[in-house]
Amino acid sequence: MKPRNLADRPDDKKSCAVWTGTQWEIWPVSAIHPHRKTVIARCHECHGPVLLMNASKDGRNDAHFEHHPAHTGCSLAHRNFTGTKTQHPLAVSDPTKSERLAFTDYISDQAAEDIIGSVKETEKEGLLLARVGQGAFRKKLISRWGNCSVMGCGPETALVASHIVSWRACETNEERLDVNNGLLLSPNLDKLFDRRLISFSNNGALLVSPDLVPSDAVALGICAGMQPRLVPHGIVKYLARHRDGTEWCEPPIHTVTLVDLLLRS
Ligand SMILES: [Zn+2]
Repeated sequence: MKPRNLADRPDDKKSCAVWTGTQWEIWPVSAIHPHRKTVIARCHECHGPVLLMNASKDGRNDAHFEHHPAHTGCSLAHRNFTGTKTQHPLAVSDPTKSERLAFTDYISDQAAEDIIGSVKETEKEGLLLARVGQGAFRKKLISRWGNCSVMGCGPETALVASHIVSWRACETNEERLDVNNGLLLSPNLDKLFDRRLISFSNNGALLVSPDLVPSDAVALGICAGMQPRLVPHGIVKYLARHRDGTEWCEPPIHTVTLVDLLLRS
């Protein structure tokens, strides 16, 4: 039940386009259906709004989508199709920044198992634990870093075993468990890193997204000069993938503290 490449659009309605938080991907409706109340989905051809239908109990229909409302300009509308492809008049556009839900936050255990594929039961457990930053993946990061990879602080119980290339976006199960594909981060840094609001260059220099406004960056403890305490060679390729597809800029140069901000206001 892996997502399909957009270039490989299926010609049936068993898969639909879903907003993953940063882009549209084509996913089987059966994987999306449990999350239908929270995901943003659309027809991958005409971009129209869709209703996600579960597989019928009698097995006659697979999970699929229906246009909602109907659309005559989409070849997936079958009998209703007029023969000329047009975009749906109510096409679902890219979500605005304030509603950029990340479908991948809600991925079900079943979908996660499908992504892992067939592996030994013990390996499966490690992979599912790695997805939530636990198990052997976390242990390896703790033994490498000891405390926060960037701040050098604890407490260990509050630190997050954060994937550099997200668990879902990994191309292999080895990548999901690779200690080089992780940083041990304090919660603020983990969330900002996970949301691609901060990243690091190949030599570890902090980069920030233009979406992270300087006052928030400062309030959350982000300032110029922050970087991992060391940059093991193996993590560089993962950092490059973390930065890929996002625009980055230098962090605020000033070293304003939260106290300075409060004094100013
Ligand atoms: Zn359509």
